[in-house]
Amino acid sequence: MPTYSYQCDKCGKRFTRVEPIASHGRRKIACPKCASTRVRQVFHPFFAKTSKKS
Ligand SMILES: [Zn+2]
Repeated sequence: MPTYSYQCDKCGKRFTRVEPIASHGRRKIACPKCASTRVRQVFHPFFAKTSKKS
């Protein structure tokens, strides 16, 4: 199963989840630290330098 990286918009916590492709994107991901569902997927953690801070 693929591993997806996420970052919480609220507290900035980064975490990964292993999900089957069938269920990916079908349910809300909650931050393990603050339980916020304002979480976005991080596609290229190895290129974090190029990501913009908004
Ligand atoms: Zn959080």
